[in-house]
Amino acid sequence: MKDFKNFINGEFVGTASGKTFENRNPVDNSVIGMVHEAGEPEVAAAVAAAKAAMKGPWGKMTQAARIEMLNRVADRINERFEEFLDAECKDTGKPRKIASHIDIPRGAANFKAFSETLANHPTEAFKLDTPDGQGALNYGHRKPKGVVAVISPWNLPLLLMTFKVGPALACGNAVVVKPSEETPATATLLGEVMNECGVPAGVYNVVHGFGGDSAGAFLTAHPDVDAITFTGETRTGEIIMRAASVGLRNISMECGGKNPGIVFADCDMDKAIEGTMRSAFVNCGQVCLGTERVYVERPIFEEFVQRLKEGVEKLKLGRPEDADVDFGPLVSQEHKEKVLSYYRTAVEEGANVVIGGGIPDMGEELNAGAWVEPTIWTGLADDSRTVNEEIFGPCCHIRPFDTEEEVIELANDTDYGLAATVWTENTSRATRVAESMDVGLVWVNSWFLRDLRTAFGGAKQSGIGREGGVHGLEFYTELKNVCIKL
Ligand code: NAD
Repeated sequence: MKDFKNFINGEFVGTASGKTFENRNPVDNSVIGMVHEAGEPEVAAAVAAAKAAMKGPWGKMTQAARIEMLNRVADRINERFEEFLDAECKDTGKPRKIASHIDIPRGAANFKAFSETLANHPTEAFKLDTPDGQGALNYGHRKPKGVVAVISPWNLPLLLMTFKVGPALACGNAVVVKPSEETPATATLLGEVMNECGVPAGVYNVVHGFGGDSAGAFLTAHPDVDAITFTGETRTGEIIMRAASVGLRNISMECGGKNPGIVFADCDMDKAIEGTMRSAFVNCGQVCLGTERVYVERPIFEEFVQRLKEGVEKLKLGRPEDADVDFGPLVSQEHKEKVLSYYRTAVEEGANVVIGGGIPDMGEELNAGAWVEPTIWTGLADDSRTVNEEIFGPCCHIRPFDTEEEVIELANDTDYGLAATVWTENTSRATRVAESMDVGLVWVNSWFLRDLRTAFGGAKQSGIGREGGVHGLEFYTELKNVCIKL
């Protein structure tokens, strides 16, 4: 049985209240360990440690030394790859095949990619003419924001957390991380790595617990937190924005989505099927960028539905450690109930269930786990709840369309605006449609092909701000203009 403690000022600590909660493996609902729930005193201690770290050696370290240290962190995650992989798979139930290719390598890469990008980014400079003819020189100087609160979700725990911690530390901030209550393991393990790599105490802190009236709320309300970066549900983002408004603290929000996939009749069908299989079902559909609404041009509609169904039939469900398994359980019993409630709603709303819609029989050993069937629907009205609300499960609705104008209208008819995919061999059309999407990210003939130098974030209710590449500089640093009269 594991013991997941808070990591404060370089030490693993329990809590004054002694409060703990269970961490369960969603594969079979067994208890993996106990998590120490941080109360106000632990959150205050973590924030104070981070604030003090900014005044200590970390605050004085050169950028080159900081980057070298973060490179060591990346290398050490890779050296302890199996431990991180095991922890992530037990927490989430996701297949090792996926976590070993995406979660852990990308989690490590986040400590290298951003330091390199940020270190090589030039600072702006402008020469100003003045009446005396001597002029003045302006240049931009960036300072770290200070103490950054990182609030992260459970679907890609290490990857999404380090996507924020990497650039935050590269820019010289100190962080207090509040991982999801569902997935405390890899954030805790990273504390060990930070110590092993000589990262000064207080630079990286972890407080465990829930959102409201728990560690999340205590952290976002703390007046010494200078900025808050959040990934999670849009409704939670609204609550955090309210907390951040006190003292006018900076926020970065990466929230939910109801992403469209648009498939034109002139697409490469094999690629469109393969890509949509991944975008709808990988990680059991628990990817913010995933496709839950698929629009297919009418001449290929029937064939597309049939081939996607055949793809689902081939998915192998099972334990994460089995090498040929590509589909695991949802993250928790609570999330299973939510997804199943949408499966029922879809039927009530008149969906034609092409495949799935229920709970698979996984056998005696696994039936207590958070399993649901991968599901495809057709025939729903555009204003149905199933087509409009984020489900965050392994499911999609497929609808035919007739014209480019019609599908652009349909795809954009949502409160969300995170990502879209477009499948066509016509480059002019691809460009036209991609540019018409009211979203932050569009993939043409691909999905989740991420270049860490590019901007990442959502439009409308899917987020505020952009992270990734040099865009992180805007959030993780305070830009000051220095004007020197010559
Ligand atoms: P969630 O909003 O329930 O929780 C996210 C984090 O916020 C957790 O750590 C949680 O404990 C914390 N939290 C909850 N209430 C809080 C409060 N009142 N104050 C402070 N913290 C609080 O989201 P989730 O269920 O963990 O994740 C799934 C959601 O995340 C989906 O909506 C998905 O689309 C979104 N997501 C978005 C992106 C993106 O990049 N846009 C990436 C992954 C997931």
